[in-house]
Amino acid sequence: MKVINNTGYDTKQLRTLFARCLGEVRKREGARWQIQKQAVNVIYQRKSLGKSAEWIGGEAFLRSNYLTMKLPHEKFEKTIVQDKANLDFTQCIADTYIHEIGHCFGQKHIRVEGYPARSTMEHLYREWILENISEEKYPITKK
Ligand SMILES: [Zn+2]
Repeated sequence: MKVINNTGYDTKQLRTLFARCLGEVRKREGARWQIQKQAVNVIYQRKSLGKSAEWIGGEAFLRSNYLTMKLPHEKFEKTIVQDKANLDFTQCIADTYIHEIGHCFGQKHIRVEGYPARSTMEHLYREWILENISEEKYPITKK
Protein backbone atom coordinates (compact mmCIF):
# COMPACT_ATOMS: atom_id res chain seq x y z
CA MET A 1 0.00 0.00 0.00
CA LYS A 2 1.26 3.38 -0.99
CA VAL A 3 0.41 6.30 1.29
CA ILE A 4 0.93 9.75 -0.14
CA ASN A 5 0.69 11.89 2.94
CA ASN A 6 0.32 15.63 2.57
CA THR A 7 -0.54 16.27 6.21
CA GLY A 8 1.43 16.48 9.44
CA TYR A 9 -0.01 13.21 10.69
CA ASP A 10 2.38 10.30 10.97
CA THR A 11 2.54 8.30 7.73
CA LYS A 12 3.50 5.04 9.39
CA GLN A 13 0.62 5.22 11.85
CA LEU A 14 -1.82 5.96 9.04
CA ARG A 15 -0.49 3.12 6.91
CA THR A 16 -0.75 0.69 9.83
CA LEU A 17 -4.39 1.63 10.39
CA PHE A 18 -5.33 1.49 6.70
CA ALA A 19 -3.57 -1.87 6.28
CA ARG A 20 -5.43 -3.30 9.29
CA CYS A 21 -8.77 -2.19 7.82
CA LEU A 22 -7.95 -3.35 4.29
CA GLY A 23 -6.82 -6.70 5.70
CA GLU A 24 -10.22 -7.17 7.34
CA VAL A 25 -12.07 -6.13 4.18
CA ARG A 26 -10.00 -8.54 2.07
CA LYS A 27 -10.69 -11.34 4.54
CA ARG A 28 -14.44 -10.77 4.40
CA GLU A 29 -14.85 -9.97 0.73
CA GLY A 30 -12.76 -12.95 -0.28
CA ALA A 31 -12.82 -13.65 -3.99
CA ARG A 32 -14.72 -10.46 -4.76
CA TRP A 33 -12.65 -7.97 -6.65
CA GLN A 34 -9.37 -7.50 -4.82
CA ILE A 35 -7.68 -4.18 -4.58
CA GLN A 36 -4.15 -4.39 -5.88
CA LYS A 37 -1.46 -1.86 -5.18
CA GLN A 38 -3.72 0.46 -3.32
CA ALA A 39 -2.76 4.10 -3.10
CA VAL A 40 -4.10 6.37 -0.40
CA ASN A 41 -3.75 10.11 -0.75
CA VAL A 42 -4.03 11.94 2.58
CA ILE A 43 -4.78 15.65 2.61
CA TYR A 44 -6.21 18.22 4.99
CA GLN A 45 -9.91 18.88 4.96
CA ARG A 46 -10.89 22.25 3.60
CA LYS A 47 -13.84 24.33 4.68
CA SER A 48 -16.74 23.87 2.33
CA LEU A 49 -20.19 25.37 2.12
CA GLY A 50 -22.01 24.83 5.39
CA LYS A 51 -19.41 22.45 6.74
CA SER A 52 -16.47 23.14 8.99
CA ALA A 53 -13.02 21.80 8.15
CA GLU A 54 -13.06 19.79 11.35
CA TRP A 55 -14.45 16.52 10.12
CA ILE A 56 -13.06 13.48 8.37
CA GLY A 57 -14.02 12.97 4.77
CA GLY A 58 -12.81 11.28 1.69
CA GLU A 59 -13.41 10.51 -1.93
CA ALA A 60 -12.75 7.69 -4.32
CA PHE A 61 -13.54 6.73 -7.85
CA LEU A 62 -15.79 3.72 -8.37
CA ARG A 63 -13.81 0.58 -9.17
CA SER A 64 -10.38 2.03 -8.63
CA ASN A 65 -7.43 1.41 -6.39
CA TYR A 66 -7.02 5.04 -5.47
CA LEU A 67 -8.71 6.99 -2.72
CA THR A 68 -8.30 10.25 -0.88
CA MET A 69 -8.68 10.77 2.86
CA LYS A 70 -9.32 14.26 4.20
CA LEU A 71 -8.26 14.81 7.78
CA PRO A 72 -8.92 17.83 10.00
CA HIS A 73 -6.05 20.10 10.97
CA GLU A 74 -6.76 19.41 14.62
CA LYS A 75 -7.75 16.12 16.17
CA PHE A 76 -11.16 16.05 17.80
CA GLU A 77 -12.47 14.11 20.77
CA LYS A 78 -15.90 13.45 19.36
CA THR A 79 -17.13 13.82 15.82
CA ILE A 80 -20.02 16.11 15.01
CA VAL A 81 -21.27 13.64 12.41
CA GLN A 82 -24.40 12.19 13.96
CA ASP A 83 -24.06 8.53 13.09
CA LYS A 84 -20.40 8.55 14.13
CA ALA A 85 -21.02 10.26 17.44
CA ASN A 86 -19.67 7.36 19.46
CA LEU A 87 -16.49 6.85 17.46
CA ASP A 88 -13.14 8.20 18.58
CA PHE A 89 -10.73 9.90 16.19
CA THR A 90 -9.05 6.71 14.95
CA GLN A 91 -12.37 4.87 14.64
CA CYS A 92 -13.70 7.75 12.57
CA ILE A 93 -10.75 7.53 10.19
CA ALA A 94 -11.25 3.76 9.91
CA ASP A 95 -14.97 4.20 9.26
CA THR A 96 -14.34 6.74 6.50
CA TYR A 97 -11.53 4.66 5.00
CA ILE A 98 -13.82 1.61 4.74
CA HIS A 99 -16.49 3.85 3.19
CA GLU A 100 -14.03 4.85 0.48
CA ILE A 101 -12.87 1.27 0.01
CA GLY A 102 -16.53 0.50 -0.69
CA HIS A 103 -16.38 2.94 -3.60
CA CYS A 104 -13.19 1.26 -4.78
CA PHE A 105 -15.18 -1.98 -4.85
CA GLY A 106 -17.77 -0.24 -7.02
CA GLN A 107 -20.32 0.34 -4.26
CA LYS A 108 -22.45 3.48 -4.55
CA HIS A 109 -24.13 5.28 -1.67
CA ILE A 110 -27.02 3.51 -0.03
CA ARG A 111 -29.30 4.40 2.84
CA VAL A 112 -29.03 2.12 5.82
CA GLU A 113 -31.49 2.02 8.70
CA GLY A 114 -29.97 3.73 11.72
CA TYR A 115 -27.34 5.59 9.70
CA PRO A 116 -28.36 9.15 8.83
CA ALA A 117 -25.46 9.59 6.43
CA ARG A 118 -25.06 7.65 3.21
CA SER A 119 -23.09 4.46 3.51
CA THR A 120 -21.24 2.16 1.14
CA MET A 121 -20.25 -0.75 3.33
CA GLU A 122 -18.92 0.79 6.53
CA HIS A 123 -22.15 -0.10 8.38
CA LEU A 124 -21.16 -3.76 7.98
CA TYR A 125 -17.88 -3.03 9.74
CA ARG A 126 -19.13 -0.74 12.51
CA GLU A 127 -19.14 -3.48 15.12
CA TRP A 128 -15.71 -4.71 14.03
CA ILE A 129 -14.32 -1.18 14.26
CA LEU A 130 -15.71 -0.66 17.74
CA GLU A 131 -14.23 -3.95 18.91
CA ASN A 132 -10.86 -3.87 17.17
CA ILE A 133 -9.93 -0.29 16.38
CA SER A 134 -9.38 2.50 18.86
CA GLU A 135 -7.21 5.51 19.39
CA GLU A 136 -5.46 3.60 22.13
CA LYS A 137 -4.53 0.69 19.83
CA TYR A 138 -3.86 2.76 16.72
CA PRO A 139 -2.92 6.28 17.73
CA ILE A 140 -2.83 8.83 14.92
CA THR A 141 -0.62 11.72 15.92
CA LYS A 142 1.30 14.52 14.32
CA LYS A 143 5.05 14.31 14.02
ZN1 LIG B 1 -19.01 8.24 -0.48
